Parts: sequence; C-alpha cells; structure tokens
Amino acid sequence: MKLLEQIFEIAKKEPDLIVLAEREQKFTYRQLFAAVSHISEQINERNLNQRPILIFGKNDFITLAAMLATNLRGHAYIPVDAHTPFERTEMIKSAAKPAAVLTTVALSADFEALFTDRISLELTDQILTDKLPALDFSKAVSGNDSNYIIYTSGTTGVPKGVEVSHDNLVTFTNWMNNDFMKIENNQILSQALYSFDLSIFSLYPSLTTGGTLISLSRDETTNFKLLFERLNKTVINTWISTPSFVDICLLDPSFTEKEHPQLVQFILCGEELTKKTAEKLLTAFPSAYIYNTYGPTEATGAISSVKITKELLTENDRVPIGFAKPGVDLKIMDKEIIIVGDSVAKGYFENPEKTEQAFFTVDGKPAYHTGDAGSISADGMLRYQGRIDFQVKFNGFRIELQDIEANIQNLKEIEKAVVLPKTNDQHKVTALIAYLETEKTFEDRAAERAFTKELKAELSKTIMDYMMPTKFVYLKKFPLNQNGKVDRKALAQKERGDN
Ligand code: AMP
Repeated sequence: MKLLEQIFEIAKKEPDLIVLAEREQKFTYRQLFAAVSHISEQINERNLNQRPILIFGKNDFITLAAMLATNLRGHAYIPVDAHTPFERTEMIKSAAKPAAVLTTVALSADFEALFTDRISLELTDQILTDKLPALDFSKAVSGNDSNYIIYTSGTTGVPKGVEVSHDNLVTFTNWMNNDFMKIENNQILSQALYSFDLSIFSLYPSLTTGGTLISLSRDETTNFKLLFERLNKTVINTWISTPSFVDICLLDPSFTEKEHPQLVQFILCGEELTKKTAEKLLTAFPSAYIYNTYGPTEATGAISSVKITKELLTENDRVPIGFAKPGVDLKIMDKEIIIVGDSVAKGYFENPEKTEQAFFTVDGKPAYHTGDAGSISADGMLRYQGRIDFQVKFNGFRIELQDIEANIQNLKEIEKAVVLPKTNDQHKVTALIAYLETEKTFEDRAAERAFTKELKAELSKTIMDYMMPTKFVYLKKFPLNQNGKVDRKALAQKERGDN
C-alpha cells in the first residue's frame, strides 16, 4: 500500500483525530485530506509536467498538506524553508527546475519575482471543509518514484538535492513503527524543519499510525522563553530532535520526568550524542527509552540505533551509534562507514558527477560513502569516529565548510577563505572560525569590525544563517605547508593566539 493510502485509511477510520497541533490551532486528519484534495486540484489545473514541485513554506499544517498533495499528483516535493536566503533559494530553483512552485507564506518582492508562476496557498474555510473527500491514489508516488528531494550543503557552494524514493521512505517508516515504542495516540514532537531529513522521523511514523504532530514554530524553537512555556503546557510522548536541541531544553529545570511523566521516548539523531548530554538526559528522565540513531539524508533518516543505558555509557568513551536496521548492511572500507541496502537514496538530483562520487553498488545493492569514520565490533555495534572530510555538524546543522568558503571567496576584496571548526573535549563543534586572506589593512579594530559587518551582510544572501562563521580572522598571507597547500593546523594556532 502507498504511504498516502495508509495515512488516508487512518483518516477514514478516525477522521476527528488530531493530526497536527500548533500553539494556537489544532487540525484533524479529516481536515488534512480536505486540504490535500483542494491543493491537488489546484496542481491538476495547471497541467504540469512530472518534474518535482518546490514548496516554499514553514512548518505548519498547510505546508504539510501541500507536500502530501504534491505526492498525490505523482510529483516529488522539494521542501525549502521560507527563511532560506534569496540567492540560495534561486540556486535551488535553478538546479531543480521544478514543474511548479507552491508557496504557503507571504513573500517579499524579490521572492514574488522569483516565483512569478507560483500557486499561493492559504488556509481558507474552503480548504478546511469538514468533509472527508474521495481521493484517487492511482497517480500517487509509489515504488521507486521520487518522494522528496532535500537540498543540503554542497562542497562547491551550491546545495545538492538528495533524491529519496517512496520505497526508501517506506522502509524507514516501517522500521520506526516496528522497532521503537508503540504508543496509542502518540504525541510526537515535530521540531525539525521540513527542509531537513530529521523531519521525516516525526512526519511519516506519526501520520501512518494515527499520531499527533506537536508542531513547534520557528519562534518557539528560537526563543527559549516561548519554547519552555510551550513544552510545559504540552503533552509529548515521543521526542524527536538533535542532541543540540535537547541540550537547550535541558537548561529548563522543569524538563524532567517528574514534570513530564508522559514523555517516555526520546529518539535522537543528526549529530554525535555526547556522553555529557546522554548522561544529563538519562538523569532527567531515568525511566524513559532514549535512543541514539544515526544516518545521513542520503540513507533516508537513520539506519542504526541503540538504546542508551548507564552501562552503555560506562563501557564506552564515545556513545556508540548502534545496530543496523533490517535491510541495511554496514561495512567499513578504508576506515569509512559504508551503508548498503534499501535505505540508500537514488542519488543527487540530476547531478551525475556528485552521485558517482558518493553512490555505488556492493553485490548489486545500492551503497553510499558516508564520509564518516567508524568501526564495527563483532556483535555488530557501529561506532562513529569523526569525519574524513570537511563536513561538520554545528548546532545540529549539516555544513560543508567548503560551501561557506566558496561563498566567502565570491566576495570582493577576499583572495582566499578557509573555515575551521573549533571543537570541545566532547568532539562537539562550538564555533566556526573563518580565516580570510586579503590585501585590506584596517586602521583600527573598529574599521575591522565594520568590514566584518559588511561581509556578513553580503554572505547572508547566499548561506543559511546557521552557517555564518562565529569569528573572522584577516591575514595578508595564509601559511603554507611543505606541499604548498594552506597549512590548516598553523591557521588554527593563529586563532588561539600562539602564532
Ligand atoms: P544529515 O544528512 O544532516 O542527517 O547528516 C548526516 C551526518 O550527521 C552523518 O553522516 C554523521 O556525520 C552525522 N550524524 C548523524 N547522526 C549521528 C550520530 N548519532 N552520531 C554521530 N554523527 C551523526
């Protein structure tokens, strides 16, 4: 059965179940399909080709309905968050050449000009009709059809689109529904932006089991006061987030089992779970099921998991990333973790060169070079040992350092740029330092600060806000190593002041 049909079955059985709860408003499964039907008719009226559809919006009911409606009409969706800078959105649009653009937010003039032929969606009474429509699923995505394309940081400075099939998503959803705790009317935290693959951990397991998505707005995730207020008056059973987001919530003294007795399951993914965070969470929620899961967007959500226990933390210096899900084989080749099996995505959308570099086959099965260093012990436990390239996770966000470098190098007066992460004793990136080679001289600190401000303003047009370097260091000439390459170690020492 197609995923969409599975969700529709729930709507037929229990139309009044809450599918998504925002701070102010709640929506039912019936309303979801009323909206899906309405939006899919609008798509249908356009007589589009079968290329993917770009959805420009935020995490809310209407954007979710737009994604499902797109799939119902047989298109893959490309979720782009409304806070993506203009020039970066332009890069994604020109790489993806979508059949149409659906927008679910008010647009500024430049975005209006970029999306001239858009279908603007609004929550109207008509969309929220109380009738469960009859739907035809014959055209809906299935099998190896692309379900979504998520654009992620690319080494050239241009994002690359990971193309995930319906079957990839089915294997992930089935694993989540079978291997983790089953909870009636599961209230599942939906915090990750739809434009990140972490969001599928909440969306599809919740929708296919009659759960409720507890949807946090951007305001709530960025303003701690609002966040803690919302958490303290909301029942959540299953928590899905990065460890960095849990760290923020643990700052609130009331984020404990005593105050949140219904919060019984934590599924963490997206970056290394440090021992410190794991210990703190286990202390705050001693009887909860806490899982560390691991996987890249290119292997659809996650492909391994392990339950965190006191013993596991005592026995390991770094928190292991667990055992492979069914359908996946893990291999270590030249120290790198290779994922083989049915979770591996189709490749990078219309980018054969990049696809060939990272995707290959092992014994006829799809395989992916993760770029993660790791090891597997005899019992099958996978351990993560850092990256073998220049990709980092900063506050839970995936960033290719070369993406930032390429975009800085496009700015005037900058010859070269190197961006280096600063890490703490838990292997966590705590800052990104940009080293810039420039002829420019500064009269004083104030002049340097003013220049940095201008530079940041320019840079913010092409990189996401979470990619912005924490500090800018200007040098006349970069130190070179014996091979004539930029000496990254020597650069890192400069920032520490021991040059
Ligand atoms: P993304 O595509 O954004 O999910 O990022 C995938 C990358 O995040 C992986 O290749 C790892 O480098 C890192 N990652 C994800 N989960 C974990 C984890 N549990 N432990 C360590 N690193 C992780």
